[in-house]
Amino acid sequence: MNTSYSALEDFRICPQKYKFSQIDRIRTPKNKEQVFGTLLHNTLKLVHTPGILSPTLEQALDYFSKNWNAEVFQDEIEERAAFSQGVAMLQDYYKRNDPAKINIIDLESRFQVEIGPDGDKHIVSGIIDRIDKTEDGYEIIDYKTTRKLPSQEKVDNDLQLSIYLAAFLKRYPKEIENLDKIKVSLYYLKHGVKLSSERTLEQVNQSEELIIDLLNQIASSKFEPVISGLCDWCAFQNICPMWKHKFKELAQEDLDVAKIIEEYISLKDDIKSKSNRIGQLQEILSGYMDKENANQVFSDMGRILRTIRKTYKYDADKLRSILEPLDKWEEVLKIDGVALKNILGILPYGTRKEVEKAKEVDKESKSFIVKKG
Ligand code: SF4
Repeated sequence: MNTSYSALEDFRICPQKYKFSQIDRIRTPKNKEQVFGTLLHNTLKLVHTPGILSPTLEQALDYFSKNWNAEVFQDEIEERAAFSQGVAMLQDYYKRNDPAKINIIDLESRFQVEIGPDGDKHIVSGIIDRIDKTEDGYEIIDYKTTRKLPSQEKVDNDLQLSIYLAAFLKRYPKEIENLDKIKVSLYYLKHGVKLSSERTLEQVNQSEELIIDLLNQIASSKFEPVISGLCDWCAFQNICPMWKHKFKELAQEDLDVAKIIEEYISLKDDIKSKSNRIGQLQEILSGYMDKENANQVFSDMGRILRTIRKTYKYDADKLRSILEPLDKWEEVLKIDGVALKNILGILPYGTRKEVEKAKEVDKESKSFIVKKG
């Protein structure tokens, strides 16, 4: 299979999105975030393009403003805010970096890496924003214009950086000997923060395995849509099965459903405000009960009894030493799915794969989640 890193990332976010862009080949215009990100990338490319003199901040800002596309924004307020943010990001970039002192060996470096065993090769392509020669090695940098900063652990396990490093090593195979001198970094321009990491050869190889695993998942995928916060930035929302009702021209039957939706949301609101009030009343009553030294209070309507409920936790080692000899330890172990999900992203690739394999559908139930607006 011939694919790009960004297509694989789409698949990881939402298989349906991957299908729209890679299989159905539906082309969409760039949204405002993409237009903004591309212009910043282009400006930084200009900043670092080797020449006699590096562009000054004023020249970089001039390029940024001359290529600014106001059309993609919803209104003037949004457009001005985005423009000011871009200017602030470039100013901050110059404050933290002196382009004249950076030794660039490649910018927007296109790569294609072959992955997989002979006879079953796949090609993954991509673009590395910047490769620097550092004092004793190299640094591979990818610029990010997103707001959310990842944890260091996520950067240490970031697949994109591992693939970029794999591509770099295919081009400079001798550098495998000097992996400890090669940094891989994500530069978050909105925060002016560069998060860096290193990789072992084992991690690079594992990233190739992870790509093959993803390719296998694609080959057998049903391309189910996965709703997330990223749907707000998805260019396929208007044709996505999960969002189609939003874009439907409403017939009478749909209008009736709209009323049901509104009633449902307003009932949920009532429940919420009533349970907030119940919480307040409980606090007042509890204070009164403490004062009166009484756990039960009365009115003509009825009585309220206060009971103390305690939850207990056990010392795991002690409990194990008691139950294991009786062959009962395994029976009381329960997997905490939430805790597992939280650590999954930072587990080594092999372990993660094993954990994924151990997953199976336990129960299926329907739930209704209200998102307002
Ligand atoms: S709108 Fe959301 S669920 Fe639909 S394709 Fe895009 S990312 Fe997937």
